[in-house]
Formats: sequence, structure tokens, C-alpha cells
Amino acid sequence: MSATLSPASAVTVNGRTYQPPRRPSVVICLDGCDPEYLARGIPAGVFPTLGRFAAEGFAGEADAAVPTFTNPNNVSIVTGAPPAVHGISGNYYLDRETGKEVMITDGSLMRAGTVLAALNNAGVPTVVVTAKDKLRKMLGRGMQGGICFSSEKASAATVEENGIADLEELVGRPTPNMYSGDLSLFVLDAGIKLLEQGRGELFYLSLSDYIQHGHAPGEPESDEFHRAVDERVGRLIELGAVVGLVADHGMRDKAKADGSANVIYLEDELNARFGPGAARVICPITDPYVKHHGALGSFVRVYRRAAGASIPELMAFCAQMPGVEAVLSAAEAAERYHLPIDREGDFIVLSDAATVVGATTSEHNLAGLDGHRLRSHGGLGERRVPFLVSEPLTPEYRRRAAAGGLHNYDIFDFVLNGTE
Ligand SMILES: [Zn+2]
Repeated sequence: MSATLSPASAVTVNGRTYQPPRRPSVVICLDGCDPEYLARGIPAGVFPTLGRFAAEGFAGEADAAVPTFTNPNNVSIVTGAPPAVHGISGNYYLDRETGKEVMITDGSLMRAGTVLAALNNAGVPTVVVTAKDKLRKMLGRGMQGGICFSSEKASAATVEENGIADLEELVGRPTPNMYSGDLSLFVLDAGIKLLEQGRGELFYLSLSDYIQHGHAPGEPESDEFHRAVDERVGRLIELGAVVGLVADHGMRDKAKADGSANVIYLEDELNARFGPGAARVICPITDPYVKHHGALGSFVRVYRRAAGASIPELMAFCAQMPGVEAVLSAAEAAERYHLPIDREGDFIVLSDAATVVGATTSEHNLAGLDGHRLRSHGGLGERRVPFLVSEPLTPEYRRRAAAGGLHNYDIFDFVLNGTE
């Protein structure tokens, strides 16, 4: 349909071959887009563009990587591979060698290359825009040239570091607030401008889940936000792009009937039962932006600390707690969810769809919720995500989709290799 793009050869990344885009190709990670937002929003007219994909392109669901957090899934999407391959299994982890707890804010722990870097370096002008700056270095890892920036730090972008400057001028408004829906809309608007100016052929636009943490499907705030997202997807298509859209994870209500957060403070519980310092609980949802979830999600890693209770005893105690869905040893977790074993705890605990699990009461501050019910993710209840493509799939990819077992990290494969 649109003009032939610059010639580049196919690339192979983590065992899969990707064709260079034949027309501008945009993958959007609509952070925290639980399928329920679409299930309620499409009939209500919130998503006029995405609602057409089922008839005009492809609309299905896929599994996110577990734990259903932002970093592991964004990195899975851009590498086309699960955490066992790329090494990122949380936003935050305990380094067994140093004993230090570390926030992951760059690509130094990544063990695999990305589809974005491979195609960019093969000559496809590539644009990566993320809402939160913490993801930028991971998503842009290995890119030589190209454009990669975050809306959070839009005003600070430089040609040297980001491949582009003067973003406020480009988008036509100031750098958005960290805690706003505009943090995401700015990402999409920047993508639209760059597409209009012909500055990219391959785009990855990764949004923030601030709105979804605060607002359930059907609430005016989430409807308004999603209408704005949908309108921008429509504009990208109008400009000739093929658009793929997935989420990094779903989002569920984790509050009790009285509105208070439904939390298991697991480290407190373990230490009360087995003695002070018995175990350390690491919450891999922890990131620099905890206001909207208090660092509480539905997946934690537990490290035995003191002699006394054995790991099986600690596990058995966790397994009988109300609200706990699964307790798996490191080896079981790594095998079942394709996680890097050397970055596992002694065991993992998954809470159910209505419950979050934390460390100690003193480590989690829920004041930022400002009276909202806690909504969060991390567990199996948030594993299903939308998987949408704006164009019809080839017969082979239709068959693959129909066979089931899709992952959100198949999206670049589908967009680049699987459309007519
Ligand atoms: Zn997320």
C-alpha cells in the first residue's frame, strides 16, 4: 500500500527471523490493559478503532510473562522471548552475590538482544518511546542511532543520548506529569508526529498503567483515557501504519468490601511464625513510581534468612494462608514460567486475583491511593492480555493464533511476518 520502505534484510533475534517492515509498523504496549477494559469498552463505544480489529484485522488474547509486571513483559515483547532468555524477571531483585536489593533501571542485566536494535542496526529507522524513563535503557539496548526517549524526561532529551531533542516543541505541549494519563498520550502523540515526518519505519510505543491502577473498566476516567488512546491508534492507521497492540499485564481489584487493600504482609507473617529475621520477602513490582500501588502486587520472591525453619517448612506455611494461590520452589517456578533460575528466590508466592502480597507493613505506603481501591497485578489473575493487529493475518498466522498458546511477546513476529 504505502511507498516501499528503505531496503533492509531480515534479522534473526533469539531464534526467530523478522522481516523488515514493508510499511510503517507500530507496536503499542497499552500498559495494564486488562481484557475487561475492552470487553466493557468496545460495546460502550470507548474503542471505535480497536473494536473494528476483530472484523478488519485480528483480535485475540495472549498470555503475558509471569510475573505479570512491567519490566519482564516489556523486555519479553521487544526480545520476542521469555525471561529465561533475556534475564529480566522483575523490576526489583535481590542480588545473591552482593546481598543488595537492586532496582532495575538499565539494560545491564539483559542477556538477549532486541528486535528493535537488530532491525534498527540493519538500516530500519526505529523509534522507541516509553512513558517511564526506567524502561528506556532496556528497550533501547543495543540500538546504534535511532530514536529512543521517554515522555517522563521529554524535556531533557538530547540528540546525543536520545537521537532527538526539542520534544515539547514536536508534540506541542510540556513534558507531562509523572502521575497522569498524559504521560502515555504524549508517547502516542510523539509517535504520530514522527510518523507524519517520516522519521521512523518501526515503532515501539510503551505506555504507563497509572490510569488503570486507579480506575476500573467503566469508570469515567478510564473511559476518557482509553477513548484518547483509541483515537490515536486511529490516526496511526490513517497514516498508513500497521498497528499491533498488546499489554504487559492485566489489572485487578485487590481491595476488600470496605475498600481497604487486601494485603498479606508475608515477611511479617513468616517472622511472627518462625522468629525475627527468618525470611526476606522481595516484591519485584517495586519501582520508582509506587504512589499508585504502594509496591504491592500478586507475586513475591522469598529468601530464607535464618537457620531454623527449612525452605519446605516456610513454603508449607505460606501455602495454607488464605489468599495465596500458589507456592513454587525456585526450580518449579523457573520451569513453569520460563524464568532465569539464577535470579530466583528460594521460592515464590503468588496471591490470588483479589489479593496482594507484600513484605512488612512498614515497607508499603498506601497513602498515595488517596482513597481509591487498590488495583494491581503480578499474579496469574493478570496474565491474560489483549493481542490485536490492525491488518488481516496471513493464513499461516491465523492458524497459529487459532492453535492457542499465544504470548504477548509474539506481537512483533505477527506484525512483521504475519500480516498480508
Ligand atoms: Zn505495567
